[in-house]
Amino acid sequence: METLAKRDMVKTITTHYIDGAFIESHGREVMDIIRPTDSRVIARVTLGDEEDTRRAIAAAKEAFAGFGRSTKEARAKILRRLHEAASARLDDLTAAMVEEYGGVVQFAGPIVQSGVNAFLASEKALQELSLTRTWDKTTVTLEPVGVAGLITAWNANALFICLKLASAVAAGCTVVIKPSELSSLQTRVLVEALHEADLPKGLLNVVTGLGNVVGAELVRNPDVAKISFTGSVAVGETIMRDGAATMKRVTLELGGKSPTILLDDAALDQAIPSALVMAFLNSGQACAAGTRLLVPKSRLDAVKRGIRDSMRAFTVGDPADPKTAVGPMVSQKQYERVQSYIHKGIEEGAEVLVGGEGHPEGFKAGYFVKPTVFVNVKNDMAIAQEEIFGPVLCVIAYDSEDEAIRIANDSRYGLHAAVLGTDLQRARRVAAQIRAGRIVINSMTDDPQAPWGGFKYSGVGREYGRYGIEAFLETRAILES
Ligand code: NAD
Repeated sequence: METLAKRDMVKTITTHYIDGAFIESHGREVMDIIRPTDSRVIARVTLGDEEDTRRAIAAAKEAFAGFGRSTKEARAKILRRLHEAASARLDDLTAAMVEEYGGVVQFAGPIVQSGVNAFLASEKALQELSLTRTWDKTTVTLEPVGVAGLITAWNANALFICLKLASAVAAGCTVVIKPSELSSLQTRVLVEALHEADLPKGLLNVVTGLGNVVGAELVRNPDVAKISFTGSVAVGETIMRDGAATMKRVTLELGGKSPTILLDDAALDQAIPSALVMAFLNSGQACAAGTRLLVPKSRLDAVKRGIRDSMRAFTVGDPADPKTAVGPMVSQKQYERVQSYIHKGIEEGAEVLVGGEGHPEGFKAGYFVKPTVFVNVKNDMAIAQEEIFGPVLCVIAYDSEDEAIRIANDSRYGLHAAVLGTDLQRARRVAAQIRAGRIVINSMTDDPQAPWGGFKYSGVGREYGRYGIEAFLETRAILES
């Protein structure tokens, strides 16, 4: 089966999961997995090619002939088995996420847990979803769309796999997963766990490889009916365009530049830590990170003082340490990207309140950056408009509530937002004017039955709960005369 060598040795992964078994890769290219805390090679992964992908699609197609006609109860049973199987490896999954991309354990633990919980959340949503409606001589049924290609980003790969797989299974689809190539170790742990769920052969297939090889084959292959993608806008655009040739259904979960509106009645001792938690979520490498903090001018000085104080709690360090709030960036490329934006912010005239360029004191090895807060930011600056995907927060001052709402919406993104204030009616009124798929009031919170997804360039479609399942369904009407 799997060749995961003992701890401290360079691990090797040479197989994909196809038709219920771990199969040697047909693709021969080998990629190093580099640990972001010290830039050392920790694994070598053999990447799949088009042939591996086509084999996986063929297995999923064959399995769909049976599973596509499964009952609600059969799917519910599989979801419970998937939950049980994934739960058994929670700690291993968290450890892999911490080591492989430097996700801090205080984020990785809960995020893996919510991925595992997604199977039960989907089961609940499935039980509540009526798959058949009849009236007069008309019967409408919700049918699985077919074989689904699931393509994930690295920053919470296990969560994305679980979420997408849970929704697809609930809908009666079979899947081929193309995980992020940067998440090969996490994926391996998860797939080993899911293998124990004793699934119908071919329901779950996983091919690790590059996006422009394995991902592109999924997008172009006529036997794949649907692509559910989490990643960047640039790749999302490619998928939408290339998928059109085979009329792919697409769900795209893309980037964000989420606003946090701090209202003038907010209690700063709670609002500031809450805003910073949202800004530095997953070391800032989160699509939902609240990276634009909108502050009333009348409270700007107090907010700046509060940020300086509260930032002491946002320590950089070993991601495995539960006290660490900000870990390394995933890669050298991401480290450089963050540096270039900090540099650009300074050039654009924003003022560094905390952090700045370079490595933090004592962290020369690895891809650590300084958590950075800019003030005097104008919303049209590149640092306020472009997704940096690192721990960089822009503080933008506003005069009135209307101006705050206008600035919040003045973005090509619309994934997530937050409103912080004491008067709940007012906070709700402000939230209702924000063009984003999800808005939280007063702190980061989650509901696995609430939809997740974006307006505008943040994507197309929704995940989670019944919304996630519906994304894998087609509607069929049968009419009798
Ligand atoms: P990415 O777009 O570079 O890669 C995402 C996935 O797409 C990877 O598996 C990659 O191999 C694959 N891919 C690349 N080229 C492809 C192609 N031509 N065809 C098919 N697949 C291809 O993104 P990333 O760097 O892994 O992730 C960061 C981005 O993801 C950020 O923009 C972030 O905001 C976004 N994201 C969004 C959400 C959300 O829920 N909206 C969640 C997490 C991350």
